[in-house]
Amino acid sequence: MKPALLKRQTSSGGVIYKKTDDTYFVALISVKEGKFWCLPKGLLDKGETPEMTAVREVREESGLNGRIIEKLGDITYWYFIRGENTKCRKTVHFYLMEFESGDTSQHDLEVDGAEWFPLEEALKKISFKGDRRILETAKARLTAA
Ligand code: ATP
Repeated sequence: MKPALLKRQTSSGGVIYKKTDDTYFVALISVKEGKFWCLPKGLLDKGETPEMTAVREVREESGLNGRIIEKLGDITYWYFIRGENTKCRKTVHFYLMEFESGDTSQHDLEVDGAEWFPLEEALKKISFKGDRRILETAKARLTAA
């Protein structure tokens, strides 16, 4: 069997938050027929900075516009692209973003849904440990402020 090829991808995304009645809410997206809950993110387009991609992908995937407050960190994971017999190493840059406008009903049709969750509930709901670590960092920054 031919060995798998290797490739790298870089994406960027965000933890978008709002505060209501002393509770922080963050937006998660649902993918793969509701199997996973994730932070909104996507591949960098040509000529985009990671910050530009984060704002665009959060808007497209969750329907929400936000402004970047600060960088939260990066995650890296490997996955297999079956059709291409390729192993991909993906790095995702994440930013903390304050909600400005928009509505989760305006989410991209490529995702199954977008919803606001209280931060503590989002931490339980989120599917991947890298995303959870980023959400923990966001919680620490928000509650220290
Ligand atoms: P992008 O949103 O960056 O354009 P994509 O939707 O093409 O990317 P991914 O979301 O990276 O692809 O998903 C590719 C594979 O990696 C899937 O099997 C997915 O379940 C898995 N995956 C997604 N996010 C994570 C994560 N944070 N940690 C580990 N695996 C993940």
